[in-house]
Amino acid sequence: MNKKNNYKLAINGGPKIRTRLFPSYKTIGIEEIKEVTKVLKSGVLSRYLGSWHQDFYGGEQVRKLEQEWAKHFKVKHAISVNSATSGLYCAVGACGIGPGDEVIVSPYSMCISATAPLMYNAIPIFADIEEDYFCLDSKSIENKITERTKAIIVVDILGQPYDAEKINAIAKKHNLYVIEDAAQAPGAEYKGKMAGTLGDIGIYSLNYHKHIHTGEGGIVVTNNDELADRIRLIRNHAEAVVGAKGYSSLVNMIGFNFRMTEIEAAIARSQLKKIDKLLNARLKNIEYLSKEFYKMPFLEPAKIRSECKHVFYKQAIKYREEITGISRDKFIEAVKAELSPTENRENHGVLINCGYVKPLYLMPIFQKLIGFGDKGCPFNCTYYKGKLNYAKGICPVAEKMYNKELITHDLMTPPMGKKDLDDVILAFKKVYENINELK
Ligand SMILES: *Cc1c(COP(=O)(O)O)cnc(C)c1O
Repeated sequence: MNKKNNYKLAINGGPKIRTRLFPSYKTIGIEEIKEVTKVLKSGVLSRYLGSWHQDFYGGEQVRKLEQEWAKHFKVKHAISVNSATSGLYCAVGACGIGPGDEVIVSPYSMCISATAPLMYNAIPIFADIEEDYFCLDSKSIENKITERTKAIIVVDILGQPYDAEKINAIAKKHNLYVIEDAAQAPGAEYKGKMAGTLGDIGIYSLNYHKHIHTGEGGIVVTNNDELADRIRLIRNHAEAVVGAKGYSSLVNMIGFNFRMTEIEAAIARSQLKKIDKLLNARLKNIEYLSKEFYKMPFLEPAKIRSECKHVFYKQAIKYREEITGISRDKFIEAVKAELSPTENRENHGVLINCGYVKPLYLMPIFQKLIGFGDKGCPFNCTYYKGKLNYAKGICPVAEKMYNKELITHDLMTPPMGKKDLDDVILAFKKVYENINELK
């Protein structure tokens, strides 16, 4: 046992394992600065026009990024947008989803994976997640399909792909679109295929917290020409373009301005060149941490789906209260007390979290059924003939992961290194070795 561990726990007034801040997440370097400077010097920060013109497709950086992204991810079309949120709206709109329709969604994700259908007055229906991988569970999906179901929004949660073979087969059988939210999984693979390209449409995020980023940004991918056309229209003022373009399929052709600037596109091109290096840095940290974590009997590694590559947006660990005799939340509170926060995120404490997210159907929007305006739209849309159920208990696995079992953390992100991780491991060990102090 390390000598430091003999002290009283920090939560009970003892000395902390670490008081120096952990380093702030950083993937931006000299390459990005050089490329952005070139764009700035050119004076053309965006070249889009919201009308039927060659500039409808954006400027040089945007177009090059899209070509390079499509090549890297081995997909026919890559369409840049200003966030993954925008990308999900494009995807739902492009599929022609509208009032009266249902879309099956995950309760265990970032909120937009579940709320995107509402934008088109469609109804999100929650299916439960897998015990082992936390992605949507194929059996639960099958139980939720009705004659109103139009699509499934699957999520490659925490960095590993959804159960593509089973879920794609269900979608095919019922003639449903699969929209793959791959915001957390760029570079993840399923049987040699890139996450994001497993469904009909995939969406990546380039927000600051993701594996590669441009501050804010997103990319939508598809192998379907018709969907690609519609996504590009929704991205850029469809209603003002369809006339001159001679596009007659008007469903959901109300557009937005979801355009990425040349600056972000230039950053994204540099980031894409570094993606493998950045993913490897994460994986190395995960390996280092896992070796020590999983010597501790009360921590159980979350599984990796067979023939898949996981890119660890977060690491999920199952906590076994039977072994410690202390609840997960209390244990983690004690670990967090031992460690300093991360620079620039001082208010979060060290980036370790209990349960990942509260199941999304428990958010006020689903509990109170207030969406657009104050009359309950779209939940009480007269075109909708189904029966809503957003009650506590509808997805027991997601609730169990949130309430009791899962610990997730972000401590593998560059530039975190071995010395930082050693402090984290020490904190877990110290709390476990002095567990009686918590009883
Ligand atoms: C980050 C994230 C999003 C949203 O990304 P933005 O680019 O911030 O809009 C969507 N889905 C998941 C699963 C995410 O993690």
